[in-house]
Amino acid sequence: MVPRNGSIAVVGGGVIGLSCAWRAAAAGFDVTVHDPAPGRGASHVAGGMLAPVTEAIPGEEDVLALGSASLLRWPDFAAELAVAAGREPGFRTEGTVVVAHDPADRAELDRLADYLTRVGREVEVLRGRALHRTEPALGPAVRHGLSVPGDLAVDNRALLAALLAACRQVGVQMQPSRCEALPAADVVVLAAGAHGGTLHPALGAAIRPVKGEILRLRARRGALPPPSRTVRAIVGGRQCYVVPRDGGRVVLGATQYEVGFDDAVTAGGVRCLLDDAERVLPAIAEYALEETSAGLRPGSPDNLPLIGELEPGVIAATGHNRNGILLAPLTADAVLALLRGTPVPPETRPADPARLTCGQVAKEQLTSADASQGSHPRSPGWRSEP
Ligand SMILES: Cc1cc2nc3c(=O)[nH]c(=O)nc-3n(C[C@H](O)[C@H](O)[C@H](O)COP(=O)(O)OP(=O)(O)OC[C@H]3O[C@@H](n4cnc5c(N)ncnc54)[C@H](O)[C@@H]3O)c2cc1C
Repeated sequence: MVPRNGSIAVVGGGVIGLSCAWRAAAAGFDVTVHDPAPGRGASHVAGGMLAPVTEAIPGEEDVLALGSASLLRWPDFAAELAVAAGREPGFRTEGTVVVAHDPADRAELDRLADYLTRVGREVEVLRGRALHRTEPALGPAVRHGLSVPGDLAVDNRALLAALLAACRQVGVQMQPSRCEALPAADVVVLAAGAHGGTLHPALGAAIRPVKGEILRLRARRGALPPPSRTVRAIVGGRQCYVVPRDGGRVVLGATQYEVGFDDAVTAGGVRCLLDDAERVLPAIAEYALEETSAGLRPGSPDNLPLIGELEPGVIAATGHNRNGILLAPLTADAVLALLRGTPVPPETRPADPARLTCGQVAKEQLTSADASQGSHPRSPGWRSEP
């Protein structure tokens, strides 16, 4: 436990570091964020889905529980942030549809529906006209879908702007430089995303960069408007998603590659995303392509983040992989509990980094960040890639 006005150094000002910094400073701690480019990193690139259910993977029930617990916190988190920052963080509640393109994709969609029903999640099967009534932007070839009203979204860039403003309001200091070692403070919170591995030996073998490319488009005059909710699609066994933003804009993502710290956008990645999205939302072909970008997700060996004490005075808040935007409210609550010496939310217990040292995660799952494998533009099966 840190005294109420104790000093906290947060290394990394992405969505995780800024959320922790805002909550800790609002609770009375003296907080400094160290980051040469706060508000950037993977958080700036992300799609912004808050989607634990449509992200669910059989066998990763702890990830589903963690994501669901964080999603429950999102409405209050967004409302409090809007007040603290004096600006909207871009929280959207229209829900999500998942659609299948061909018969094999349909089988994959049915497996997802079965799994979600088994674990007690709310999904509604939609066919033909009912599907098109729900989401008129879908192309005529798309006949099978699931409605998942509880999976939401946020404009990640509006969110980061709001977090930076809220941090300023509660007196968080910004140190615009890169840390080569742990800064001096009563407690250091390590939230440097995919780069966290260099800052502590316990993270070196656990955190690896997982590259993702993403496109930002805008509906031009005369083109069919974008979908009103997030559309996730299985197309030829691959995943893509389209997340609406204000002003007729959409975010289209995302590829997934294990190529170390390479963050270049590739022509093949862009082509693949556009081809797949057009098959389910044909109007995309008419849209203006405003931006292509790539980011590095902080991957962990078991797809759970690392949230907890690494040693006295050093807390990890990293490894959020595909779900860092979703998991920001819960991570900030857990870090605040650790600073206060109170119990962490129960759903975050499986994310305790102690699992990496006490043998719960097999040695072969621990890889060094620079031992990345080859390039995998998309992974097979029901595995989405935000
Ligand atoms: C293409 C793509 C799509 C995604 N879509 C979604 C989605 O839809 N929903 C979702 O929940 N998640 C999504 N994610 C994942 C999400 O973006 C990440 O999990 C999340 O951004 C991680 O946040 P972070 O703060 O840990 O890391 P980052 O956002 O990467 O921030 C890390 C920060 O640390 C700083 N830093 C690094 N090293 C140092 C150092 N030595 N000293 C000081 N500062 C340092 C960097 O400058 C950076 O600002 C997506 C990711 C990608 C790439």
